[in-house]
Amino acid sequence: MSEYETVIGLEVHAQLLTHTKAFCACPATFGAAPNTQVCPTCLGLPGALPVLSARAVEFAVRTALALGCTLQKTSRFSRKNYFYPDLPKGYQISQFDEPCSEGGALSIEVPGASGARVEKVVRITRVHMEEDAGKSSHARGEDSIVDLNRSGVALVEIVGEPELSSGAEAAEYLRSLREILIFIGINDGNLEEGSFRCDANVSIRKKGAPQLGTRVELKNINSFRFVQKAIEYEALRQQAIVEGGGRIEHETRGWDEKAGRTFSMRSKETAQDYRYFPEPDLPPLVLEDAWIEQVRQAMPELPRAKRERFVSQYEITPYAAQVLTQHPQIASFFEHCARLHGDGAKAANFVQSEILGGIVTRGLEADFPISPAQLAELLGLVDAATISGKQAKEVYALIAGTPRAPADVVRERGMAQVSDAAAIDAIVAAIVLANSRQAEALRAGKASLMGFFVGQVMKETKGSANPQMVNDAIKRALGLG
Ligand code: ADP
Ligand code: MG
Ligand code: ZN
Repeated sequence: MSEYETVIGLEVHAQLLTHTKAFCACPATFGAAPNTQVCPTCLGLPGALPVLSARAVEFAVRTALALGCTLQKTSRFSRKNYFYPDLPKGYQISQFDEPCSEGGALSIEVPGASGARVEKVVRITRVHMEEDAGKSSHARGEDSIVDLNRSGVALVEIVGEPELSSGAEAAEYLRSLREILIFIGINDGNLEEGSFRCDANVSIRKKGAPQLGTRVELKNINSFRFVQKAIEYEALRQQAIVEGGGRIEHETRGWDEKAGRTFSMRSKETAQDYRYFPEPDLPPLVLEDAWIEQVRQAMPELPRAKRERFVSQYEITPYAAQVLTQHPQIASFFEHCARLHGDGAKAANFVQSEILGGIVTRGLEADFPISPAQLAELLGLVDAATISGKQAKEVYALIAGTPRAPADVVRERGMAQVSDAAAIDAIVAAIVLANSRQAEALRAGKASLMGFFVGQVMKETKGSANPQMVNDAIKRALGLG
């Protein structure tokens, strides 16, 4: 066992799903042709003035509330000054010494000593608002190009306390946080497009040492798996340095996935380097109690609460609840079906086994192969014994991707089960007569022959007889309990 422990604190930047940017009316949508969504304000032209988006404030407040942060009635914007081609003003508008919220927590599940999952509460230092920078690319040989469509897009920064102790815990923290942001509708959680980004601060120290070690900041890693690997690599790199008598440098490092190692990017800036000062073009941000209360009331249900409610309300397993809440649209599709059909457990089963694979999600949106009404009708046909569970899957395959009514397909294909007791009795009687030797053996206790008789009836009815009724009819015909 190593005598060192790893300490990790994460900073997450999440783009707010506002239609416009933080301080101008330019659209904040991703993927437009470069430099088509810009104006004097987000280009940093002289004389242009910022106007704060109310929606961005609402989303930041939602984030703070979801994480249990204390909102500050008055907060301020500052200028964080640095020079980079993707930052046309020469400064980023951010919140510094007076952020809009402080002191929350995120609870995650980590493996406990006995192997069972236990809850770990990681404190959140603060959630504050800021604007994004543009995007430089260096892909074209000697040239660098810059796209300022992202310049000025509204962000929240969520700063976590240095309380995580492994790459796996960090990845779990990021998954939980991403899920919450998606469920409260403020972020689409897209790591590849960079709408959800994370910097991981990593240090090591002797186990139980009172002080934190010097941290290295790992930047811009665009997958949770890579974050985990980068942290694990970095902890070992730092250990090797310390054990060799060296000192850890306070620097910013990147992750080279191909080589499987971190590499130095630059020495780490400190707050002094940024020459923060209050933004003179924006008044303090004042949050009214009544307005905060409105935001709180309108807050969507958090994923964990939803899972717990699904388990108790619909009597499904925690695992099923987990699967059905992997995306907010999937959760609401399931609930819609459950409500229309009346039996949540049956709806949950069908959604999980048949429908899930056909759902396509894009950010907060999702496309479903059928509507909740179609599914509820289909399940209703099974309840009414018009079709069997097996046939329901066939009907589903036929209506998926179409607006067709399940009942129409059942009628058209002649799939309706024979649920007429008299008709089934007649078929059973004929089969018993034709197989008298087997009938005698079954009556004498050779239970395995039950399957033989059910099979015969199914063959005779081309699989359309109601299996339960067939079972009952055979027992009746043979005078079995
Ligand atoms: P900066 O913005 O310069 O990175 P912050 O004070 O905002 O500085 O710190 C950012 C993050 O660094 C926080 O998430 C915090 O938990 C983490 N952190 C601070 N000190 C350490 C440390 N010694 N080891 C690991 N993480 C740390
Ligand atoms: Mg940082
Ligand atoms: Zn603009």
